[in-house]
Amino acid sequence: MISCKELVTFMIDYLDGALDFKASQEFDLHSVGCLDCHAFLNTYKKTVSLLNSLPCEEIPAELSIRIGTFLREKRGR
Ligand SMILES: [Zn+2]
Repeated sequence: MISCKELVTFMIDYLDGALDFKASQEFDLHSVGCLDCHAFLNTYKKTVSLLNSLPCEEIPAELSIRIGTFLREKRGR
């Protein structure tokens, strides 16, 4: 089972479909079983879809990287 911290690290790859099968299964298991991460994932998805709905495509990519870094730092403590 992955930890909450690992889940955050995997989140970008998960939403990109870049995780391998085993990792994405563990991701699913954790995000379903952990209330914190479940809520967190929902918030993150909303943020990403909001960013993706912006007209300029370059800025969202840059922003989502920044958000990813920010989340890692936030959860890494
Ligand atoms: Zn968790």
